[in-house]
Amino acid sequence: MCVTSQDREQALAKTAIALMGDCNVTPTPENFELFYIYASGENATISNALAEMVGKHRPIPTQLLSDLRARHLVRERAAKAMEDVGSGISDALDVVLDKLEAAGKHAGDYGRALSAATGELGGDQSPAGVRKLVDGLLGATRAMETRTKNLENELQRSSQQVNELKTQLEDVRKETRVDALTGIANRKAFDAELQAAVDDFHDTGAPVSLLMCDIDFFKTFNDTWGHQTGDQVLRLVANCLSENVKGRDTAARYGGEEFTVILRQTALADALNLANQIRSTVEGKKLVKKSTGDILGRITISIGVAELNHGDAPDLLVRRADTCLYRAKHTGRNRVVGENELAVQEEIDAA
Ligand code: GH3
Ligand code: MG
Ligand code: MG
Repeated sequence: MCVTSQDREQALAKTAIALMGDCNVTPTPENFELFYIYASGENATISNALAEMVGKHRPIPTQLLSDLRARHLVRERAAKAMEDVGSGISDALDVVLDKLEAAGKHAGDYGRALSAATGELGGDQSPAGVRKLVDGLLGATRAMETRTKNLENELQRSSQQVNELKTQLEDVRKETRVDALTGIANRKAFDAELQAAVDDFHDTGAPVSLLMCDIDFFKTFNDTWGHQTGDQVLRLVANCLSENVKGRDTAARYGGEEFTVILRQTALADALNLANQIRSTVEGKKLVKKSTGDILGRITISIGVAELNHGDAPDLLVRRADTCLYRAKHTGRNRVVGENELAVQEEIDAA
């Protein structure tokens, strides 16, 4: 019996759906895509990551699936989109170069026709001879005009195409810098932005501060209400950060349930005020599950705040803000701790 590619696709789809059922996975299109790829065995990383749990029919955490998608599918798709746009631009440029080469050749032919005519002017100057010469020149000039017009149109089309490709490239670039779940900057964008802020500080001396934020007892929240509701909370916290920062600042998802904010032109005292404002915005949100009306209570976040010093590398600033965050967690949570507080504590400890 001959197995068509459609038969194979149907078999893979059936296997994927059965496996999702076995592992108690929500049947969303995104999860289906992952299980379809798993069933096809075409992506070793996805196969290895799921093999054990699928083999034992164990429930698979939603977060593991969304991480797998973010790490392996989104990135691959972005790389492929980049490649497509890149080859589109290269094709468009090839067309432009071909046209320019042809235009150069036609201009050469026209130039030669003109030179020949100039040469002939010295020879046969009878009215019939001159007439023939002028007809020839007119013909060559019209042909040149037509080619120039065509070239103009073609160049215009090509430049439109290159502009469209540039816009697509920009969209893909943006996508690779945005966290898929929350829509704010991702870790990659954060790293680049922090380096830029540090460079700027070394050039201009304008202060830079950093907030490291972590949701309190988030594991318990997830365990109580489920990961999908947990994901909504991550979006809510991201919105609270975005609401409270200015255009020149960058709010990013640092990873998991940790967020960070780079504050440009902001010294520690102002950064502490803003951190408290963010902390209280989050605390003030009443969480209600839309689908059921369940009141989920409130969530809180702890924040560590540090200011960049001369000579600091970006990761040192992150570590210092992280130490403050750690202190905020250990001194009660739902708190903001700045480096100044840490220094005072160190003096007390040393005394
Ligand atoms: P602490 O107050 O000390 O920060 O306690 P915690 O429970 O927040 O900290 P812990 O590091 O023990 O747990 C972090 C939890 O964050 C574990 C994981 O369930 C949850 N988490 C991380 N990333 C995601 C995500 O993308 N979605 C959801 N829903 N939960 C996530
Ligand atoms: Mg954490
Ligand atoms: Mg936490």
